[in-house]
Amino acid sequence: MSKPAPSGIERILFTEEQIRSRIGEVAAEISERYRGRHLKLIAVLKGSVFFLTALAREIDIPVKIDFLAISSFGSQKAGGGVVRISKDLDDMIQDEDVLLVEDIVDTGLTARYLLQTLAGRGPNSISICTLLDRTSRRIVQVPVEFRCFEIPDRFVVGFGLDYRQLYRNLDYIAVMNPEKAGS
Ligand code: 5GP
Repeated sequence: MSKPAPSGIERILFTEEQIRSRIGEVAAEISERYRGRHLKLIAVLKGSVFFLTALAREIDIPVKIDFLAISSFGSQKAGGGVVRISKDLDDMIQDEDVLLVEDIVDTGLTARYLLQTLAGRGPNSISICTLLDRTSRRIVQVPVEFRCFEIPDRFVVGFGLDYRQLYRNLDYIAVMNPEKAGS
């Protein structure tokens, strides 16, 4: 049974069915690319967790999973946003093929920071897989190897993405207007 749309939701961009179908396609690409290698999926807490679990279930080669959390401060709009790791990985990534699993790559600042930081730990390879990509707002260029959907320049929630820590558990991805959200 579908849940009632919370206040502030303007329109659904991708239904659960569309998301799962697209994740299946991307998982098939990943399985082919990494067959016979040592793949580790690294998800960025908390937004990427829903995507990670859906993706991992569709990948048909053995994978390891690890998590990290970041916090950001400073004005990202001005291009000066700073991110740092607030919860590090549990294990080393030396000689492993790492796939950084992101909920959304927006300005690219977070992805660039994580790529640079993790690359310094000696993985065999490191690439990015994102559920959503918003290339129109890029401040720094980052290589996005696998992407499910390109989205317009609107604030979105659902399938892991939050507004003030809420809305993550929506099955779909929707444009939301924070001004119309209840408190
Ligand atoms: P970037 O460093 O690429 O600008 O930002 C990536 C992070 O910004 C994402 O992991 C996410 O937490 C947040 N973000 C960017 N755009 C949106 C959006 O439209 N909705 C939500 N909920 N978070 C977003």
